[in-house]
Amino acid sequence: MTVGARLLTNRWGESFRFDPGNLCLELLLTGGPPPWDVYEILTDPAVVATWVTESRLTIGNPLAPEDVHLTPGDLDLIRAFRDVMWRVAPVIAQGGAPAPEDLERINAAVGDPPHTRLDPRSGLLRWAGPVTGAQIVAAAARDAVDMIGTDARERVRQCQGSNCSLLFLDTSRPGNRRWCSMQRCGNRHKVSTYRNRRPS
Ligand SMILES: [Zn+2]
Repeated sequence: MTVGARLLTNRWGESFRFDPGNLCLELLLTGGPPPWDVYEILTDPAVVATWVTESRLTIGNPLAPEDVHLTPGDLDLIRAFRDVMWRVAPVIAQGGAPAPEDLERINAAVGDPPHTRLDPRSGLLRWAGPVTGAQIVAAAARDAVDMIGTDARERVRQCQGSNCSLLFLDTSRPGNRRWCSMQRCGNRHKVSTYRNRRPS
């Protein structure tokens, strides 16, 4: 499996792998305002803790669910930041300018990210628990600042599949990624192109 890719299942039961490219866009997979509320998971601290341990935050530095400490207030914090990203990321993907108030909200969220420590048994890095909701938001906000304030903003894309609203940061070397997943929208496009070319 590609590092940082998530196995997603849509409402029709199709599974596919999706790499959002960074944590602030990965957070959009936890749900959002309608119509994305059907994917909402920010209601149960234990579910979110597991989600965090499977997120790209843990690439390189492992984190166990018991090392994530989330209160209902933390979930509100994450949700508020996610709402900001739902407003900002689609605008960036279309080459537009996000609202200054939302950029200020992202700035305000850049706080104290999780800290690393040495695992005394393995001698390797891991995240120091307990990781809080504010730290998760801080890590995502730093990604957002790096993404929006640099040339990376040119690589924020919405999947070109019809009716697909998945947003990602294109980290491919040539910068020509068009689809959320070749398994899903890329394949559908190939099939429809083939059908259109076939003489009837
Ligand atoms: Zn797609």
